[in-house]
Amino acid sequence: MRIAAVIVAAGSGIRAGGEIPKQYVTVGGRSIVQRSIDAFASIEGVSEIRAVIHPGAGSLYAAALSGTGPALGAPVVGGKSRQASVLAGLEALAASEPDYILIHDAARPFVSGAVIDRVLDALKIHPGAIPALPVADTLKRDGGDGTICETVSRDGLWRAQTPQGFRFRDILDAHRRAAAAGRDDFTDDAAIAEWAGLRVSLVDGEPQNVKITTAEDVAEARSRFEVAMMLEPRIGTGFDVHRFTQGSGVWLCGVEIPHTHKLEGHSDADVALHALTDALLGTIGDGDIGQHFPPSDPQWKGAASHLFLADAARRVRARGGKIANVDITILAEAPRIGPHRAAMQARVAEILAIARDRVGVKATTMEELGAIGRREGIVAMANALVLFPFSPKDLS
Ligand code: MG
Repeated sequence: MRIAAVIVAAGSGIRAGGEIPKQYVTVGGRSIVQRSIDAFASIEGVSEIRAVIHPGAGSLYAAALSGTGPALGAPVVGGKSRQASVLAGLEALAASEPDYILIHDAARPFVSGAVIDRVLDALKIHPGAIPALPVADTLKRDGGDGTICETVSRDGLWRAQTPQGFRFRDILDAHRRAAAAGRDDFTDDAAIAEWAGLRVSLVDGEPQNVKITTAEDVAEARSRFEVAMMLEPRIGTGFDVHRFTQGSGVWLCGVEIPHTHKLEGHSDADVALHALTDALLGTIGDGDIGQHFPPSDPQWKGAASHLFLADAARRVRARGGKIANVDITILAEAPRIGPHRAAMQARVAEILAIARDRVGVKATTMEELGAIGRREGIVAMANALVLFPFSPKDLS
């Protein structure tokens, strides 16, 4: 049995506040559209998933994807209405012609596998099936003047959710006929199926399968989700040493400090930023600075080391990491660090895009002991603490 899913993400969604349409907003470390895609990618038998996006939203969509499985095909550009967008998604699947199709609003990222399974089970019997919840509130009709003219019976009334499942051929034909008949006002696919005379069964939906429409919905989803999500702290350490050579200043923490010597190295030899880069890479087990920026590569000759640090921060953030704090200790007899500490702290905060009080810069001499004490070079050590999204299943 071949099952495909269409994820309808074509809304411009400006209601959710802010400039980014709601389906591209991040909730609990993943975008809403990614969560919706993931819900289907994990269902057995789902072999193809296509997202339908707003014209011109290609780069927003690509940026919102944090990981894609083999089932996810290229996005399809939607039409003027939800109905037209779904039809575009179905047409994109026409060539591969799956047996069943699940049509899901990207704005319902919390759909459970149990709901999807119930819809698929019902499709063995009926041409269509949707999850729905009984209406619990008493319904009133107003008379147009702000007062009630009628209490409407809620008997037999249901609130429709998605995914709405159909036999693929049936719903494609129904959509094509509706479009040919000039109808563009259907607000869900079950309505088109009903119009086409298909029987659509109701299965139990779930209250948490909410549609995220407003900025309040986004905030509520985040707070609800963040309670359920744990943050995993991870620590990285870094160490580096560079020797002095002839020169007139040293780079430390991205700040140039006048001195009787400079530090020897292939790049600008900023020993502190090198140690910190390694500390950040350590939190994601992603090698070290020499692996990503080999000294043998001529393009890094004389390079400013903030490039290395910014790259490590990007790698950490690509995995959902939030840099909680970094702490640097510099071991040097000279130059004196104290007068430059505030500038160094500010520069590191700027490179990492974090607050200054999350950056520690400390220095000590070696009491004239050893190589550093003999003023042969400078050592730097760094720690980084990064918080990552985490769920208990990550442990397995
Ligand atoms: Mg180094």
